[in-house]
Formats: sequence, C-alpha cells, structure tokens
Amino acid sequence: MHAATTVSLIPVLSDNYVFVLHGGGSGAAVVDPAVAEPVIAWLEERGLELEAILHTHHHNDHIGGTPGLLQRWPQAAVIASAADRERIPLQTQGVQGGDRLTLLGRHLRVVEVPGHTRHHIAYVLEPQAEEAAELFCGDTLFAGGCGRLFEGTPEQMLSSLQSLSALGTSTRVWCAHEYTEGNLRWAAEREPGNSAIAERLAAVQQQRREGQPTIPSSIGVELATNLFVRAQDAAALRQLRGHKDLWRG
Ligand SMILES: [Zn+2]
Repeated sequence: MHAATTVSLIPVLSDNYVFVLHGGGSGAAVVDPAVAEPVIAWLEERGLELEAILHTHHHNDHIGGTPGLLQRWPQAAVIASAADRERIPLQTQGVQGGDRLTLLGRHLRVVEVPGHTRHHIAYVLEPQAEEAAELFCGDTLFAGGCGRLFEGTPEQMLSSLQSLSALGTSTRVWCAHEYTEGNLRWAAEREPGNSAIAERLAAVQQQRREGQPTIPSSIGVELATNLFVRAQDAAALRQLRGHKDLWRG
C-alpha cells in the first residue's frame, strides 16, 4: 500500500498557485512553478526532494520557476507537451494526450486541452481506493470560469471542457489561478436568478474574506455553476467568453 498522495498549493505572485504532490516518502513533484524561491523554501522546510516538474502550458507564470528549481534539483524530470518543446525548452520528457506517467508510485494521465494555448495539456492523478481523482488543468478550466482563448477556438475550448467534465463529478479541480470570486460575480450578473451560482459566490466570498484559497473545486461543482462548462455549443461559449473578456467587475 502506498501512503496517500497529498496535494498542497503554494500561492505565488498575485494570484497563481503552484501545486505540490507528495506522498509517504521524501519525493515530491510540482505543477506549473511560476517562480522558484517560494517553492524551494516550501520543499526544504518539509525535507522533500523534487523529482519532477510538470507543465500545463508555456506561459511564463507556469514555467518561470523551472530554471531555478533545476539549479537546486538538477536531476528533476521536466514534463511538458512534446509539441511545445520550443516554448518549453527545458523539458526532459515530452508527452501528449493519452500518455500515462508514473510519478511517486502513482499514475497520471495526460489529457490534451487546447484553447487557452494550442498545446495546453492537463494531468489527471488517478485515484486509489477511496480517494478522488486530482485534475491539474492549468489555465483551461477555472473555478467558475475558463481560460482566455489566446491561441484556440471556442470549438476547441468547448471540447476541452467537455473532456474534463467527463472525468467524473468527484474529481478535484486544481486550477492555476485564484480567479474564482471574479468569475462567480460575473456569472451571477449573467444569471441573476441562478441560486446555485449565488450560493457558491457567497461561500467563495466568505473564504476570501478569511484569506482562504477557493481551490480545489470539483467537476461536480463546475457542472452545477460554471457557465462555460454548461455552454451548450461553441457559439454559446464564444458569446460567454467575449462577454467575460470585456467585463470589468
Ligand atoms: Zn496561461
């Protein structure tokens, strides 16, 4: 039996999260290190050794800490989309959708989720026993929202969100930014009569007042309250995305 793998989050920059996976041993993996220093300090405090760095996409606030982490732990594997090798140049293990990885004695699956960027990928830590699956989805699915369409189409984002929604309602969603309150304030304006959104917004505002992260969410919560996940087709998603891009709440 493996000890349960724990996921922790480290808040960095103004609203980024770096995620740390660690189990019973001294090994750890991180997802989307925007910066190195707080991550190094966090791991050293706990006596953890970095074995792998996973990237969801090439934006600097997801890969910027990798050179510094590699200085401290030169043997760490750097996992990223093989198709994005030019923009994530330090990768030692290129992956694509459908690939399976073994990390810290656990299995992860790679899912292609283009839309925010053309080679964006997500990682699913497969559950064991009573645990829920853990999803690391970068800037594709946010709690109450989705990523901006910098390089992809509404059709791609719709399909990506559908792939993630299909992971099962108990799947925990670790998205890379604390955008939840703004997303839900926007959604509550769009659908003022939606009590599920209103209730979630109130709960999230309470968490934020207490200085707590609103992450992780779950696929079940997103299916109930995320207007992008609930979009019926690409035209509806395009309309929502355009409206949200211009919203200044
Ligand atoms: Zn991004």
